[in-house]
Amino acid sequence: MKHHQQTIKTPVSCSGVGVHSGKTVNLSIKPAPVNHGIRFVRVDLPGAPGVTAHFNNVVDTSLATVIGAEGCIVSTIEHLMAGLTGMSIDNAIVEVDAYELPIMDGSAGPFTTLIKSAGTLSQEGAKCYFKVNDPISLNENGKSVTIYPADEFRITCTIAYDHPLIGTQTCNFAIDRETFEKEISAARTFGFLHEVELMKRYGLARGGTLDNAVVIDGDRVLNDGGLRYPDEFVRHKVLDCIGDFSLIGMPIMGHVVASKSGHAFNHAFLEKFFEEKASWDTCTLAPDPA
Ligand SMILES: [Zn+2]
Repeated sequence: MKHHQQTIKTPVSCSGVGVHSGKTVNLSIKPAPVNHGIRFVRVDLPGAPGVTAHFNNVVDTSLATVIGAEGCIVSTIEHLMAGLTGMSIDNAIVEVDAYELPIMDGSAGPFTTLIKSAGTLSQEGAKCYFKVNDPISLNENGKSVTIYPADEFRITCTIAYDHPLIGTQTCNFAIDRETFEKEISAARTFGFLHEVELMKRYGLARGGTLDNAVVIDGDRVLNDGGLRYPDEFVRHKVLDCIGDFSLIGMPIMGHVVASKSGHAFNHAFLEKFFEEKASWDTCTLAPDPA
């Protein structure tokens, strides 16, 4: 676990299209001071309004995670948030010139590479964690999320699809920079061809292509080159979990066990987490030995 807050060393940028809007968007990540958190700024709007990446600011979770405050809406933040959290970045300003973040290749890989290229700056401020002392659980309609006490941030994720290509998959990772980069960041979002076609008919997924999602038709993957990991589907759910749980506002010391969860359910869990204040506290770690 890291003892100091971190930001990036130098500004970095990329551009791409929003998966739902189909609109081109330019994105820049810039360093930010201690206790700033991750804040999105809409540089295309008058006065460049901003919104902090926090679950209190979540306004929609139906297709993607959308945050908003005072005339500033930013959509599809989950994969970038996973990239920042996975790479242990606490403080950053993210500037965008459209409402939806670029989908890139449907994973957090391009964001992770970008953040890595920016370099990491250790800051003069202790990293503060949510430390889980007693399990907190949310169960509903066969979906469940429980967080258990642990001295690291660990995620165990299970998905169960009545589909021969996916079926039931479980994976379990302690999330640190190396594991995130190697095992999780490149896992892409996925969908079924009939769903994608339906979404397009309703004006959604306008930017969705085989370049930014794994698409399944019948019992085969349509993408050239197939899957990046044999269990890429569940690894992407871990990636989504990291992004969703990052909206808690600080790193977590605890073991998240999620089954059949998604953005909306993860968000509901965060609300429950904050109701159960007796089950956790906040802590910093002793400084690194000199
Ligand atoms: Zn996702």
